Amino acid sequence: AMAAMYQAKRSGGHFLLHEARCEPVDPQMLSLTAELRSAIDRDELMLFLQPIVKCDTRQLVGAECLVRWRHPRRGLLPPGDFVPRAERSGLIVPLSDWVMREALAIAASLQGAGHPLRLSVNVSRRAMVEPGFADAVSRYLAAHSLPVDRLLLEITEETLMLDEPGSRAVMQQLRHAGIGVAIDDFGTGYSQLAYLKSLPVGQIKIDKSFVRDVTTSPTDLAIVRALVELAHALGIQVVAEGVEQEDQAQVLESLGCDLLQGYLIGRPMPFDAFRAWIEKTER
Ligand code: C2E
Ligand code: CA
Ligand code: CA
Ligand code: CA
Repeated sequence: AMAAMYQAKRSGGHFLLHEARCEPVDPQMLSLTAELRSAIDRDELMLFLQPIVKCDTRQLVGAECLVRWRHPRRGLLPPGDFVPRAERSGLIVPLSDWVMREALAIAASLQGAGHPLRLSVNVSRRAMVEPGFADAVSRYLAAHSLPVDRLLLEITEETLMLDEPGSRAVMQQLRHAGIGVAIDDFGTGYSQLAYLKSLPVGQIKIDKSFVRDVTTSPTDLAIVRALVELAHALGIQVVAEGVEQEDQAQVLESLGCDLLQGYLIGRPMPFDAFRAWIEKTER
């Protein structure tokens, strides 16, 4: 078996073998991974934008970039269908590079149209620890003459916890470059809050699992209140994710939450629809 594995590796097939060991062999899924390789070149990926607003005034301040795959036969695929697969296969590195370039092109275009918004980009651990990551991001910003505060990188608590030296060293490089970092899905990870003291975190995003029941569950209310207090004591901005109802927004505002994101404000949408949405809400 070892010999077969080695043979597979030498023939460049180790990646398929790896997939086959991780999950039951599903030829359809294997082909999806193969197709993802060419999806980038074929221009099949696209970024949707979801508005992020100030909690009290509902003024638009930014948007989160969420990747989609316009698959020629399967239609529009959500990231859950291909990002985890890309992470396992290493394709996440070119995919993330495409996302970063596209996000900054969009930021530049919005800036040119008089909308200096801050775009949030999701960054996987594997892409972040790729050598030269922070430099590449700085170069892309400079190429569009964008100020660094037009970008915010979202990483999960898991990324910080699972890979201490790697991702933490990159966090320090990003700090030197002036690039902000948000902790995504806050509260769902290992919750070793000590890292907030030593790492340059500018924003936390309270996970939607806490927001969902904030109006009905005294426990979730207490958790969100404590998270907001902790963040503010450390000078960290707080975003509530997954806000779907007005009464949730009201409670979040009363707790001192800074920013809101969710279907209540706007769904993730393609660039053109996002532009139209801005024009409509500004009127
Ligand atoms: P996330 O970063 O936590 O993104 C928020 C997810 O919540 C998005 O799902 C968004 O559509 C959804 N959402 C927003 N508002 C609401 C709401 O009010 N209610 C509910 N129920 N859901 C809401 P989406 O677009 O399917 O993305 C799923 C995950 O895929 C993201 O979770 C993120 O972890 C990952 N992802 C998306 N784009 C990228 C990317 O470019 N690179 C990487 N590495 N990961 C990405
Ligand atoms: Ca995110
Ligand atoms: Ca999130
Ligand atoms: Ca997530």
